[in-house]
Amino acid sequence: VPTVDILGIPFSTMTLEETVQYCQTMIESGQPHHMVTANPEIVMMAQENQEFRNIIKKAQLITCDGTGVVWATQYTEFPAQERVTGYDVTLRLFDLCERDGYSVYFVGAKPAVIERAVVNVQKKWPKLTIAGYHHGYFGPGDEEKICDEIMEKKPSILFVALGAPNQEFWISKYKELLNVPLAIGVGGSFDVISG
Ligand code: UDP
Repeated sequence: VPTVDILGIPFSTMTLEETVQYCQTMIESGQPHHMVTANPEIVMMAQENQEFRNIIKKAQLITCDGTGVVWATQYTEFPAQERVTGYDVTLRLFDLCERDGYSVYFVGAKPAVIERAVVNVQKKWPKLTIAGYHHGYFGPGDEEKICDEIMEKKPSILFVALGAPNQEFWISKYKELLNVPLAIGVGGSFDVISG
């Protein structure tokens, strides 16, 4: 991945299109990967919280989800070409998964929100396999059951919408166990998709 260092974080300089292609490479590898679409909120939190920063830096792919970071890269040798937001990547990954038969699993958002999001996604991408989903208001005691279901369903992509930094901590904690090829934190994307 071509990257540029901004505030100690190696941001990808790929376009949205290249990013989606690279996601397919990660899926095909079968190994667990963590992708972060780093919005200004995430970049700020990474400056202030070292544990969070280390998790972000360990991610296999970090995109510039903010005009500020894209702007900052223009002053380096490796300018980023465009913003790559969590929401845009999510929609493009649904296209990819529907086209090439990869399944998806959703964790996060309020129960009614994720239900509506699933209905809307299935309407717009009728051939997409949604392997399963779970809302994001669970206690520590529910995590084993959620993880068991994800391991059983074996999705290609896990979308985690718990908000930052919880979604990144959650992915970091469980990604090896779950062995999902691509896990991505998508913040409030399901709130938008639910309409
Ligand atoms: N969320 C969740 N469980 C929680 C807290 C938040 O599932 O314990 C969901 C929330 O419903 C929303 C998403 O996380 O769908 C993103 O929340 P927020 O807007 O706070 O995060 P941001 O988009 O700013 O990262």
